[in-house]
Amino acid sequence: MPGKVKGLMDRLHDGESVVIAEGYLYVFERRGYLQAGTAVPEVVLEYPEMVRLQYEEFYRAGSDVVLAFTYYAHREKLSLIDREADLEEMNRTALRMAREVADKTGSLMAGNICNSNIYVPNDPDITAKIKSMFKEQIEWAVEEGADFILAETFSDLGEALLALEAVKTYGKGLPVVVTMAWHKNEVNGRPATIDGVEICETFKQLEAAGADVLGLNCARGPTTMLPLMEEVKKCIKTPLAAIPVPYRTTKAEPNFQSLTDPLSGKRLFPEDLNAALCSRSDIKEFGRRCLELGIQVMGVCCGNECHYTRTLCETLGRKVPASRYSADMSKHYIFGTSEKLSTRYTSGEGKQHTA
Ligand SMILES: [Zn+2]
Repeated sequence: MPGKVKGLMDRLHDGESVVIAEGYLYVFERRGYLQAGTAVPEVVLEYPEMVRLQYEEFYRAGSDVVLAFTYYAHREKLSLIDREADLEEMNRTALRMAREVADKTGSLMAGNICNSNIYVPNDPDITAKIKSMFKEQIEWAVEEGADFILAETFSDLGEALLALEAVKTYGKGLPVVVTMAWHKNEVNGRPATIDGVEICETFKQLEAAGADVLGLNCARGPTTMLPLMEEVKKCIKTPLAAIPVPYRTTKAEPNFQSLTDPLSGKRLFPEDLNAALCSRSDIKEFGRRCLELGIQVMGVCCGNECHYTRTLCETLGRKVPASRYSADMSKHYIFGTSEKLSTRYTSGEGKQHTA
């Protein structure tokens, strides 16, 4: 039942960190249940138990939040694949299973809305369409018992403001986390949204419009997201969220869409991105920096898997269910120290020829 566990805002008020495991689209793309490019969560209807299991796995890895997999389960995407008739069932199924897993595990459940992919600034017809897309998804999330709404991956401030306004209007008072996907645009040498608004101004406007948590998600890896988060921190007082992709983005290629393969020079997105994956140590460093900067809501986005989420949680000093199987190298046959191990491998010729 919603509300029986400590709410998002109470946790943040008490100075706690909140971890959100994301990355469902890519998890299912890698496993062959979802098409890259199209990127519609059809798996929710085709293999619902796979989605339920993934919710549970992210819980085991330490996620505080079961994020309903309704990312891109919106009218524009469903119309792209001629499945608009399945829109409501797809949303409700994802939400219902998320609620069930959250109840079973004592987690929070979040409804999820995102970029519509049809946004054009100052176009009244498009604006009306986007508003109704947000409205229906928010109403389903409320009806299925979401504890808060995550509105994410907006690259235009105008669209993020529409999403925020929609949650304020139809969200029945649920807290709302708004995170921007920050790409490469600059205006007068300053990082800017695609609709040309400078970063500090962007977050001041979102704060003034009443977002409960603000930050960045997706698009950038930890090393190119954190410097922007430092800027955001200087501009607003709202609690902060940082949910990067687990890829080694660089100054020259700051988002994962622009990454190229150092060997071939070809674009890595989306099928070759594993050539640029973060290590677990990179994620550990990310968690450490979040703590240092006072970023309370954190997670890993597209490219995430359970091991990253577990690493992030353990960096916060937590022991999570999956910590039961966190590495114990003292029992490794080459690198171990246990007396039960053969010294031929821990210190003799076996070691010489392996390590
Ligand atoms: Zn993402």
